[in-house]
Amino acid sequence: MNAFSFQNNNLYAESLPVSDLINSYGSPLYIYSKSQIEFNWNLFKKSVGGHPHLICYAVKANSNLAVLNILANLGSGFDIVSLGELKRVIAAGGDPRKCVFSGVAKSEYSIRKALEYGIYCFNVESEDELDRIELVASTMNMSAPISIRVNPNVDANTHPYIATGLSENKFGVGADIALSMYKKANISDYLEVCGLDYHIGSQITDVSPFLEALDRALELIDKLKSENILIKHLDIGGGVGVSYDQEKTINIQDYLNSVTTKVDNMKILVEPGRSIVADAGIFVTKVEYLKQNEIKSFAIVDGAMNDLIRPSLYESFHQAVLIDDNAKGITDTWDIVGPVCETADFLAKDRKLTLEKGDYIAIMTAGAYGFVLSSNYNSRPRVPEIMVCGKSHTLVRKRETIESLFENETFYIDETNK
Ligand SMILES: *Cc1c(COP(=O)(O)O)cnc(C)c1O
Repeated sequence: MNAFSFQNNNLYAESLPVSDLINSYGSPLYIYSKSQIEFNWNLFKKSVGGHPHLICYAVKANSNLAVLNILANLGSGFDIVSLGELKRVIAAGGDPRKCVFSGVAKSEYSIRKALEYGIYCFNVESEDELDRIELVASTMNMSAPISIRVNPNVDANTHPYIATGLSENKFGVGADIALSMYKKANISDYLEVCGLDYHIGSQITDVSPFLEALDRALELIDKLKSENILIKHLDIGGGVGVSYDQEKTINIQDYLNSVTTKVDNMKILVEPGRSIVADAGIFVTKVEYLKQNEIKSFAIVDGAMNDLIRPSLYESFHQAVLIDDNAKGITDTWDIVGPVCETADFLAKDRKLTLEKGDYIAIMTAGAYGFVLSSNYNSRPRVPEIMVCGKSHTLVRKRETIESLFENETFYIDETNK
């Protein structure tokens, strides 16, 4: 399925011309496809087949309530990394009992609230955290469901900022420490050993590091079994890469087939984020000015790194296409740059396009780690988000007003002379 496609040289979001949405909501803006989100989630569902499982969408990839609500309606679970995300899931109609709680720095308060809401499992990332969860659970006279996040020390071959499965990364614990943590948890009245989890990174396009991590996890699970510690679920994390530039990536069906054949007697949890929402979203921006010098040609647009930071932060590639593909204007190799006062403020570099002022450019595959990473830098209001399904659409987040940006601020009040 391809939710964003050209019909008569015009870019459509499902059955709706993107230009209609620009006319209604202005630019810049994010547009999402409900059908694509459902299609992507259902591909995971179909691929795990009859094996007991829980698909826990990684909320951080795109946490708009409409996105979460669509997934909740499909019966999805969620991978959360903060109390804020848990509350979003609940507000969106998601089930806290299908939530796994990841993240290296869970506060005491967030652990308490998560226990009150009855989450499915804590993915524990350190010995200190295990002690803290035990302590909080004991004060509530509860038994906290836990999984230990194992760091399998495999190289995921991805951008260093999104690699998480190496010993040099802050995530999870090595097998030896995990073993001693499980022993401790197993005899605690306030901890209940449920699972084992790992997550080795993001935007991984080759299946071999996943299978290597899986083998290491299964070895450890066998070892635990010999110590009479029973693991009921294996959480294989997220990280499946998407195709930003027609590059080859992991076939989800094949990957999950390999997993289900290797894992028996255990429920499988999977935490996809990017692979559910990335290709279900685009970012649309308007060409304000064209500026050419001897060595460079710039298309200066109204969208910026504060709206979509992936190109600046990870030097990542997104396709850039004109929403009206009837070539007019100047054909050149353009850098698409924004209004923010930073040289790193670019959305795309060296793109051959025929442009004129007033054109609209769609930055493709922007549904994951797009809006969620946006900020108000340069006092820029965050842009609206629109969810499309067929010919209909809903504004699922309003454009921020400029006034709202400073409504929590006040002047310094000099009290020294009082
Ligand atoms: C970010 C994250 C995910 C999702 O990763 P994607 O690459 O978006 O699929 C899953 N699990 C954990 C623990 C994460 O931190």
